[in-house]
Amino acid sequence: MEQFHGVGVTPGRVVGRVRQMPTPIREPEPGAGLSSGASVEEETARIRAASKSVQAALKGRAAATTGDAKGVLEATALMAADPMLVKGAIKLLDASADGGARSAERAVWESGAAVAEKLKSLGGYMAERSTDVLDVRARIVAELRGLPAPGIPESDEPFVLAGEDLAPADTATLDPTKVVALITSAGGPQSHTAILARALGLPAVVAAEGVDRIPEGMPVFVDGAAGTVLTDPGEAESEAAVAWARQAAALALFTGSNVLADGHELPLLANVATGKDAAKAAAAGAEGVGLLRTEFCFLDRDTEPSIEEQVAAYGAVFEHFPGKKVVIRTLDAGADKPLPFLTNAEEPNPALGVRGYRTEWTSPGVLGRQLEAIAAAASEHEAEVWVMAPMIATTDEAEHFTRLAREAGLRTAGVMVEVPSAALTASHILAHADFASLGTNDLTQYAMAADRMLGPLAHLNNPWQPAVLGLVKATCDGAAVATSATGTSKPVGVCGEAAADPALAVVLAGLGVTSLSMTPRSLAAVNAVLKTVTLAKAQELAALALGAPTAQTARDTVREHLPVLDDLGL
Ligand code: PEP
Ligand code: MG
Repeated sequence: MEQFHGVGVTPGRVVGRVRQMPTPIREPEPGAGLSSGASVEEETARIRAASKSVQAALKGRAAATTGDAKGVLEATALMAADPMLVKGAIKLLDASADGGARSAERAVWESGAAVAEKLKSLGGYMAERSTDVLDVRARIVAELRGLPAPGIPESDEPFVLAGEDLAPADTATLDPTKVVALITSAGGPQSHTAILARALGLPAVVAAEGVDRIPEGMPVFVDGAAGTVLTDPGEAESEAAVAWARQAAALALFTGSNVLADGHELPLLANVATGKDAAKAAAAGAEGVGLLRTEFCFLDRDTEPSIEEQVAAYGAVFEHFPGKKVVIRTLDAGADKPLPFLTNAEEPNPALGVRGYRTEWTSPGVLGRQLEAIAAAASEHEAEVWVMAPMIATTDEAEHFTRLAREAGLRTAGVMVEVPSAALTASHILAHADFASLGTNDLTQYAMAADRMLGPLAHLNNPWQPAVLGLVKATCDGAAVATSATGTSKPVGVCGEAAADPALAVVLAGLGVTSLSMTPRSLAAVNAVLKTVTLAKAQELAALALGAPTAQTARDTVREHLPVLDDLGL
């Protein structure tokens, strides 16, 4: 038995066999000529055979799949035998080709790049297919090298997916009926990969050094609450997994509204990115949307979406919440969510660069058009639309943004508080903004000067850190000052991942937060704990957490006072 310790990002106890994520395909050496000892004819035959075999594998997967995934796989299978790609590669084997002969691997690599470029230059739908060509190219090169296909491994049996880290795109294609848990040696608990794992409800442990070397097929026990992975589990672990499955079914439901034990209301909202997410959030009982991440609607775009496209994308969310609050955030491009039409890929320090609201300075007009689209979509639906800007750092920025929003006809305009300067000046910012929403993921990253994507910094990227709790309190205190100064209530929500931690949710309530927004999967667990505490008790626990010298003591102390967490396996 071997135990690995990491950071638990989604609770859940499961037993399963490990499948390792294949390492990404490396670019073949340029200028090395034909593969040694091979003739052009032999290399041609290898390319044709590899393309056929990749096509057959993709067709096989398409036949075994339904829905959207089937269509995607069928289209990708066609691409694997695309004449432009295959013939283009074969031409590059010849000594007369520009740059001389290449190996089969190199020829496929270059031909794939050329096809992808061509598609990109066509724009629109065709441009969006360029990443699919690059995926097919990697599959053919893997086949030529006799390596496993890149991407999530295929398996008939459910498995525990292990790896160094996953690209957000890989995580998005995870099939939760096949992947029962996710364990990575790198990655932070607030990385977008972790966020997506949480959204899928997958028990997950990140930053667990060594799990990417667990042998293929090894049975493991994953405890997503404790953040541990154990190889060769025994009877006790299997029983814990069965008990969890029973518990999870009981915790799957949240209906009505969230009130504390004394009747204090604390609405639970959902974080969403698309209409599909919104439908799921509504079905999970969310009382509204606390964060619509609009950049996620356009991650695959390299040109600015038209106003019509934007109206359709936002309307697809609004329609699921008639009469309910939907907080839509303007594009938060940059850092790990680059949008080529807004951000500069060459920035040396993108998390500290031109991201979020700041793109208004380098690409003026995009924000104004987005606000126009939001207002148009809002006018077509009955949702109560609130708008907010990400990465606000100063009062001037808050004043400028809220003015733009109101000029566009949006009545309720607020800001994200995710930069420490905004937390510390909340009373001034909220003199202009109608509300604040704490983005605890970035607030933690910036307070602790710790890149949220980095596994080795996971212990710093912890919203229980005393400095982060202090900044949350500063924001709530600032809102109280602004409320009495303006005579208008200034609500402060939380839409970072901290809201989805049931113990921390109690602390946030005690600090004065007025709503919590999270992935719909976490609503029931957070509600199950919050309804057992009064506001006075939450305030008492918040004071204990604030007074603790370390993140660990804050968490341990609060958990000790909330035995309900253990009873529920949270
Ligand atoms: C946050 O920073 O907490 C947040 C909600 O924004 P994002 O995770 O999209 O950066
Ligand atoms: Mg953020």
